[in-house]
Amino acid sequence: MGMTRRDFLNACLGLGVIAVAGQQKVRANSHREQWYLFGTLVDVTLGGVDSDEAASALSSLSAELHQRNRDWHPWRPGIMGDINAAIASSEGIAVDGHMAHMVSQCQQLHLASDGTFNPAIGKIVAQWGFHGDSSKRGQLPDRDLIARILATAPSPQDLHLGDGNLVSHNTEVQLDFGGYAKGYAIDLGRQLLAQRGVALALINAGGDLVTLGHAPDEHPWRVAIRHPQRNGQIAWLEVYGSEAVFTSGNYERYREHNGIRYPHIIDPRTGGPVQEIASATVVHRDAALADAAATALVVAGSKHWQDVAERLGVDQAMVVDAQGRIDQTSAMAERLRLSS
Ligand code: AMP
Ligand code: MG
Repeated sequence: MGMTRRDFLNACLGLGVIAVAGQQKVRANSHREQWYLFGTLVDVTLGGVDSDEAASALSSLSAELHQRNRDWHPWRPGIMGDINAAIASSEGIAVDGHMAHMVSQCQQLHLASDGTFNPAIGKIVAQWGFHGDSSKRGQLPDRDLIARILATAPSPQDLHLGDGNLVSHNTEVQLDFGGYAKGYAIDLGRQLLAQRGVALALINAGGDLVTLGHAPDEHPWRVAIRHPQRNGQIAWLEVYGSEAVFTSGNYERYREHNGIRYPHIIDPRTGGPVQEIASATVVHRDAALADAAATALVVAGSKHWQDVAERLGVDQAMVVDAQGRIDQTSAMAERLRLSS
């Protein structure tokens, strides 16, 4: 599909991302497709390939991402549901290589993030009503029930993997990869495109994105970061080569009760939604890490986010608090342009 620069900008603006592909061949020869996946619109732009190559790469990418969305969906029937049913009944379950890798990476991320990233609290996330396609209304969850789950300290460290078999020592563990699987999946998507010889690509999943291609001396992708509290962008940056930019925000999904907002990111220490931080943005090569880290930094809060970022090996991050105050690492400040 041919595309003018104006079409390209208009399309990307709607998703909170402005990606300006400077190379002539990208503008003249872009190929683009969109799918609704991971709870958001996934918009893919390829450059530097001819139409046949692009169509074939997009069709493989589509198959890959649709499969991952089905497999790792946090609440629809699928692999996660089977794993969680096995955990609840103290049974072991066979898992594939990706799942084994995800579980062990999540164990490391949980430790490195000081427990702020905890994909084992799915039971608490479900109690708050975030396992559904529409927002839950009415009464807030039973605090005693949440306290009983918390008392068992559900964590990825309760999981044990051996010979492709997953067992949990805690029946209150329920895995929810909603804070991480999108990053893992689009990382796989980027690898697939690179293996197929695609020179330039942008996979934008509702403002969380990975890029492929562009050396620093070429024109980069220009990426805007959405303001968590009002329409428009809070900042923008130029992205080169293979990078990932992920933002977690308490504006994305929340429920409301008696005029109070309860956002979907849960502090594993309290079992309740995080209110202090409005959004966190992480830039890293590894999209799975960027995704998990953005969620973790929201939980870590104003006092601890820098420590948690450092422990996770993230040197480029920005955090916006509920009052709209912006804080960022020095490496992020070097490349981020704040909007006035
Ligand atoms: P994200 O948009 O990447 O920040 O992911 C948010 C989703 O991650 C939520 O909708 C939950 O499914 C899940 N989640 C909530 N709190 C946490 C947490 N503390 N650690 C890991 N995952 C979480
Ligand atoms: Mg995340």
